[in-house]
Amino acid sequence: MTASSITQYVKAEAQRLGFDVCGIAKAEAVCSTAAEFCDSWIGKGHHATMHYLERNREKRYNPTLLAEGCKSIIVVAMNYCPARAVEGISHYAQGADYHKAVKERLFMLLNSIRSKTPCNGRPFCDSAPVLERYWAVQAGLGWIGRNRQLIIPGKGSYFFLGELLVDIELEYDKPFAGSHCGNCRKCIEACPGAALSEEGIDARKCLSYLTIEHRGELPENIGKKMKNCFYGCDCCQRSCPHNKSAAPNSIPELQPKPALLQMTRERWLSLTKEEYDSLFAHSAVERCGYEQLMRNINATKEQ
Ligand code: SF4
Ligand code: SF4
Repeated sequence: MTASSITQYVKAEAQRLGFDVCGIAKAEAVCSTAAEFCDSWIGKGHHATMHYLERNREKRYNPTLLAEGCKSIIVVAMNYCPARAVEGISHYAQGADYHKAVKERLFMLLNSIRSKTPCNGRPFCDSAPVLERYWAVQAGLGWIGRNRQLIIPGKGSYFFLGELLVDIELEYDKPFAGSHCGNCRKCIEACPGAALSEEGIDARKCLSYLTIEHRGELPENIGKKMKNCFYGCDCCQRSCPHNKSAAPNSIPELQPKPALLQMTRERWLSLTKEEYDSLFAHSAVERCGYEQLMRNINATKEQ
């Protein structure tokens, strides 16, 4: 098969497997602006306690060091916008763990490619030193908004990103040029933690970081800012005009369990460990653990 025909096949297969968008970029070192932005962000301590971001920077800035022989980066996006949102939990965490949902499909995509041509590849989804949003821009998917999310024109930002690094040459998409944010500042104004600025996001002030990644006590008076959201925070995405017409996802694993949809504020406040285990088995919320989730839920009593 030619590079052109295999590229068309890859994109058709990605769509068949449930990915909403697929683009392809040449695997090479990232541009110096992106690496400097990342270094500066870490230098300012804006990554808080996520020390893993300090490590493996040479691989993060050059995917050919991460996957030997890698020539192309296939970037996919999977919609996670829920049809009916579970109150208190960020949209992305309402179904089964997205790492598995995305990676399983990337393995299937790799197998599909192998059925047509010899190919080695490694799939990633938020699990390795890969500058995911940078590569999504390079693959033409969209732009990085002031809320630091990848925004796909006409579709919005409620998308998981995944990458399949392969050792075959493909036809490459044009990088997405510019930003469609214009003069809008809605996400910056809506951010309850004042974590967003033109410089990017300061994780130390971000409610998503504080409720999910931060161990130990929460900062004082944070409960009022959390409103009723005790796992993550979607304010900078909800406020974005590009998400106004976001369509609900149709991925079976990403649908919330019926029991989750029936939860009320009163029931969250008295959640037991057994209920937690049943509600969040195989969910991204497991990352938080029962004690930490209750820490967050109890903080929302400050309203
Ligand atoms: S997730 Fe919430 S706190 Fe974090 S940057 Fe977005 S709006 Fe601000
Ligand atoms: S809310 Fe406005 S500034 Fe923020 S990401 Fe969306 S379009 Fe850009």
